[in-house]
Amino acid sequence: MEQLQNLIGGQLQGSTKDKWLDNIEPATGAVYGQIPRSDADDVELAVQAAAKAFPQWSNRSFEDRSECLRRWAKIVAQHAGELVRAESKDNGKPISLAEAVDIPRAQKNLEFFAGAIEHFASEAHIPADSSHIHYTHRKPIGIVGCISPWNLPLYLFTWKIAPAIAAGNCVIAKPSEITPVSAFMLSQWAEEAGIPAGVFNVVHGLGSEAGQAIVEHPQIKAISFTGGTSTGAHIARTTAPQFKKLSLELGGKNPAIIFEDCDFDKAVSTTLRSSFANQGQICLCSSRILIQDKLYDRFKNALVEKVKRMRIGDPADAATKMGAVVSQAHRDKILSSINNAKEAGGTILCGGDEAEAPNERCRNGFFVQPTIIEGLGPTCEINQEEVFGPVITLQSFRTEEEAIQLANDSQYGLAATIWTQDIAKAHRTAAAVESGIAWINCWLVRDLRTPFGGVKSSGVGREGGFEALRFFTEPQSVCLPTQA
Ligand code: NAD
Repeated sequence: MEQLQNLIGGQLQGSTKDKWLDNIEPATGAVYGQIPRSDADDVELAVQAAAKAFPQWSNRSFEDRSECLRRWAKIVAQHAGELVRAESKDNGKPISLAEAVDIPRAQKNLEFFAGAIEHFASEAHIPADSSHIHYTHRKPIGIVGCISPWNLPLYLFTWKIAPAIAAGNCVIAKPSEITPVSAFMLSQWAEEAGIPAGVFNVVHGLGSEAGQAIVEHPQIKAISFTGGTSTGAHIARTTAPQFKKLSLELGGKNPAIIFEDCDFDKAVSTTLRSSFANQGQICLCSSRILIQDKLYDRFKNALVEKVKRMRIGDPADAATKMGAVVSQAHRDKILSSINNAKEAGGTILCGGDEAEAPNERCRNGFFVQPTIIEGLGPTCEINQEEVFGPVITLQSFRTEEEAIQLANDSQYGLAATIWTQDIAKAHRTAAAVESGIAWINCWLVRDLRTPFGGVKSSGVGREGGFEALRFFTEPQSVCLPTQA
């Protein structure tokens, strides 16, 4: 059974107390590895290593730092097949999805920020009399914490560590304890990529132990966190007295607004994908489908028919489009949300239960049927709380105003999709929806230069492009007289 290790000061090692956590394959329910159960002592060692590495790393040229990230990206590309299989096994996602999305994107993140740091410029302001130059010096922050979730493991892990390292910081990173393998693989290649010891440290373990120690450590000056809203709130409370810089990418309850003048076939097929990709475990997945009343029955029938035809498969099978959910606890949480919706009077149009195992190998795995629920109003739990599984609800609206009201009737504000062929209406709706991201007649199309993040309980701050590099640097305003 494979034992993963932390990477601290360039050394792969177990936790100082030699404690371990089991790693479970979601498709089979079997323990197939162990990860270090690290705590504050391990985080302390990582911080010491990072503090030692910081003066040199922050003074390396941007070309050097960029080159390291490019080499790392190449190594990821060389090991893509291995990473795809590992990510699918660790998370339960179909191997086809890991191959099409997760691993190419992880490679792209490293390449993207290798390029972005080469173009990251600062500002200068010169008054009319040219007596002074005021320039902004963007310095790396120092030691930063990067904490990522389980749903897109290497994709989101690299999305954080790449800009942090590119900007000249030293990183203490913690992947989710539920999906630790791909981050471990990446850590094995850091030295080969030329990343100096101590610049990139990975501390595995529980959120309440290793994660909490990262968040509390006084020498860690910024935290980039992606995960649940309640964890984000806890991190905000913990770090507030230390005035740490925070980027919080949190949960969502994303509306898909389907107007009667949409391109019907495209709206149905994309809504199917936006609802159930990765078993609905993408923060950007649509979970509240709002349909204009005249189109409601037609859209509902078409969507239900397609969902009924979806087959759950062994994630390791190349033909599988829908795999396992990430853990037993998460499966139970999803099923309990469905049950609460039933008790509240919701009608289950399809799914609604645990799914049968696709084969003998998966008989103890965690599978949930793709589920569509109708008949519940906006205030019901299922329309307010994030399920983060293959569960969507349908609601109808009459007017544009009503659609916007329903869409905004949520504590969350991450992403919205809008389906209409009327461009002016699409623009009006996008402007009125309270969300960090709005997709018009498409979903999950990303340009890595654009700001990414949520409003309301979906988070604080923006990642992506120069926003990420701004987050991972501290601007100093410097004033220089031009005459002696
Ligand atoms: P989670 O909040 O349970 O855990 C996320 C990470 O935080 C894990 O590494 C965990 O170990 C760590 N953690 C937990 N408690 C901690 C603590 N006290 N201190 C420091 N770290 C701690 O979230 P999850 O279940 O892994 O992920 C699912 C959630 O992530 C969903 O709510 C989803 O919407 C959200 N998510 C958001 C985005 C986004 O970009 N907005 C992207 C993906 C996932």
